[in-house]
Amino acid sequence: MTQGPIDIDHEALRRRYAAERDKRLRPDGNEQYVEPTGRFASLLDDPYVTPIDRPARTDEVEVAVIGGGFAGLTTGAMLRQQGIDDIVIIEAGGDLGGVWYWNRYPGAMCDTAAMIYLPLLEEVGALPSAKYVAAPEIHAHALRIAERFDLRPRSMLSTRVTAVTWEPEAHRWRIETDRGDILRARFVTMGTGPLHRPKLPGIAGIESFAGPCFHTSRWDWSVTGGDPLGAPMVGLADKRVGIIGTGATAVQCIVPLGRDAKELFVFQRTPSSVDIRDNHPLDEEMTRTLGPGWQAEWLRNFAVLQTGGQAEVDLVEDGWTDISKRIWAKVVERMGPTFDLDDVRAAYEESDDEKMTEIRARIDAVVDDPATAEALKPWYRQLCKRPCFHDEYLDTFNRPSVHLVDTDGQGVDAIDATGVVVGGRHVDLDVVIFASGFEVGTDYARRCGYETTGRGGETLSEHWADGMSTLHGMHSVGFPNLFIVGHAQGGNLISNITHNLTEAAKTASAVIARALDVGAVEVETTAEAEAAWIAPIAAAEPGVLGNAECTPGYYNNEGGEMGRRQRLNGGGYQAGPVAFFDYIGRWRQSPDLAGLELRDVDGQRVGL
Ligand code: NDP
Repeated sequence: MTQGPIDIDHEALRRRYAAERDKRLRPDGNEQYVEPTGRFASLLDDPYVTPIDRPARTDEVEVAVIGGGFAGLTTGAMLRQQGIDDIVIIEAGGDLGGVWYWNRYPGAMCDTAAMIYLPLLEEVGALPSAKYVAAPEIHAHALRIAERFDLRPRSMLSTRVTAVTWEPEAHRWRIETDRGDILRARFVTMGTGPLHRPKLPGIAGIESFAGPCFHTSRWDWSVTGGDPLGAPMVGLADKRVGIIGTGATAVQCIVPLGRDAKELFVFQRTPSSVDIRDNHPLDEEMTRTLGPGWQAEWLRNFAVLQTGGQAEVDLVEDGWTDISKRIWAKVVERMGPTFDLDDVRAAYEESDDEKMTEIRARIDAVVDDPATAEALKPWYRQLCKRPCFHDEYLDTFNRPSVHLVDTDGQGVDAIDATGVVVGGRHVDLDVVIFASGFEVGTDYARRCGYETTGRGGETLSEHWADGMSTLHGMHSVGFPNLFIVGHAQGGNLISNITHNLTEAAKTASAVIARALDVGAVEVETTAEAEAAWIAPIAAAEPGVLGNAECTPGYYNNEGGEMGRRQRLNGGGYQAGPVAFFDYIGRWRQSPDLAGLELRDVDGQRVGL
């Protein structure tokens, strides 16, 4: 037995983690999930608005921005800052806001600190109300960005793109939509989000439940009563409610469900790790000290500390930076005259064992029933799954009306007209809620809902058949004037997705402005630049995220192969997010924009 500062049997933990992972490995891996079809096809619809009638558009714009979430909004904002006004945002939802438009489930909030999660706070002159803020406040902020940059009149809402096709003679993209529009755009940006297409568990009989049944991302308030601001869900006061899944979404909505349902049954396959959140209103005295440029400083400080760097102060001070600071403290503690990667790995493992031991101890301290407490304990490394932070989740299981139905890693066996079957036991239910997450790792076109066809008729699905292939996560050869606005193959800072999006928006808008300045009609990366960019990403060993030793989940392809395709789809810049943000900030101001070709109508390179 090896000893850490707190009494931990590290080898025994390793064995337990491996046994818990093995129990959950399934031959069908990511294929276990099913698309919302048949009875559930309407899950992809927008339940919140009735789309207004409008004539189809057939005009031409300078820039078409696909997706009106934070990716599209920051892109729109940055384009306007560059003086580019002829833009249109095309958004499937009935309003702007993306993930924060769709996800209205009770208790929804973001557990990345609002001072860094909410983009462009300085630009719109706003501050959040608290350290972590709830979904309605985040959505309001998205709309504030739209107002500030006058993006609303430039938006086509309730409009799904159905095809994006390059027209080489015209040097334009043709964009078709489900509203009959055929727009042409010189440039297209695509910010369709990493996790937005709801998926369902492939449980036998899933279609047969007779009562109301919905996914968390399309909350049916007509069934539950209440509202996203926290009003009691009176519709559940006489109902037996079942929720399937205990990921980051479920951890948040189980608390209000436990409060309002007559009885709540939580069907658990793998427990989440739930650390303290410690939310509190924003310190007004602190906000008075914020000078110009404060958000950039906070963003950098968080990214540095969260990825193992050193900083004099921790401005954000949350569970994410705590994870990294603990690891670094261990590294320093262990550091001898020689120092290598094995020391870092050992320091990481030791500090993770301590953290997870604390998380499990908190469950014993909060949850009254010892069997329930035991079943709620996560047996894996903290970063194997999305770490969760909540101050009321565990306590909810002390309510006599809340029942944890642990499936010992196997999941729900079946659903029938009247309820759910687990381990031969039938649980009668009136309402079933799926907190089963979103598609990851399926084809990009399937997740977007449309295909992008580039030069020579090659589709993006074909070009990315062996995994995403880009320069900077943004440009693909054969797809001129197309800009992907995301995090993969770029900064890949998972703990603060919007930081990646704002940076990508700055890059896309700077390149578009440059192309317009120099009279280029095409901007495209080269095969060499793309290959050079992805080579180290394809070669990189998966880190903690995506590790085969982890319990199955969407971070590691459900415990399946982490081959070239998975590495390319989930990987980022090798030197890490901070180095990427520094690099790309310099690159977009550089005179030559290395790796890109800007061409005139005759195909000649211009402006460099
Ligand atoms: P997840 O994919 O994280 O969770 C899905 C849940 O469904 C898991 O608990 C899974 O179990 C469970 N499940 C799947 N199949 C079955 C089955 N057959 N029987 C029982 N349970 C099953 O989805 P979420 O919506 O919770 O979260 C998705 C992501 O959204 C998060 O990882 C995070 O990135 C983001 N998010 C962020 C928030 C924030 O605060 N910023 C808040 C909410 C979400 P198993 O673990 O065993 O696979």
